[in-house]
Amino acid sequence: MRTINKKDCNNYDVWKVKNKKVKTYHALIEHPEIKAMLKNALTEEQLGLCCYCCDVLRTSHIEHFKPQTLYPKLSLDYQNMHVSCSSDKLKKRHCGAKKDNHDPCDAERAIICPLNPNCSELFEYDQLGYISPANDNKLAKDTIDVLGLNDPSLRSSRRAVIEAYYSCPEYWKEKISDNPLPSFYNVIEYFAKN
Ligand SMILES: [Zn+2]
Repeated sequence: MRTINKKDCNNYDVWKVKNKKVKTYHALIEHPEIKAMLKNALTEEQLGLCCYCCDVLRTSHIEHFKPQTLYPKLSLDYQNMHVSCSSDKLKKRHCGAKKDNHDPCDAERAIICPLNPNCSELFEYDQLGYISPANDNKLAKDTIDVLGLNDPSLRSSRRAVIEAYYSCPEYWKEKISDNPLPSFYNVIEYFAKN
């Protein structure tokens, strides 16, 4: 996870003022151009990476951090929206698809928001690609579980990135300033710092 520098989406705000009859995100099905605009703006502010696993976004969906089923008033709130990868949506193995309608503020299993300015520091990685909570942080542990961040597909992708990093660290240290960012920027940044 890396901190998303959340901005405003002025065009969307203007559109909402003019379209007050649209009350739910579901109703945007009749406004595909607005959904496309949202996804573009969100992808841009995430520098091209999934809000949870930090893989490069390919197949993706707009993710409501606080799910619409539990927080209907936030259904159209831009600040509650991110883009998550969803290449394995049917299997729901990781990220937004795995999280599904889980309440991020759940009393037993709350999870870390990618808007948290310290979120990247709450996770550690090993050479095999496993992600773990830094300092046994419970919030980070629950986040890994709820989001399926140790799914074998993610783990092997991270491992490949770590091997690439160690084959040419100087090259990858420069890549972490790119826009869009490289896949698994979080892992590259972690090994570049440690
Ligand atoms: Zn992801």
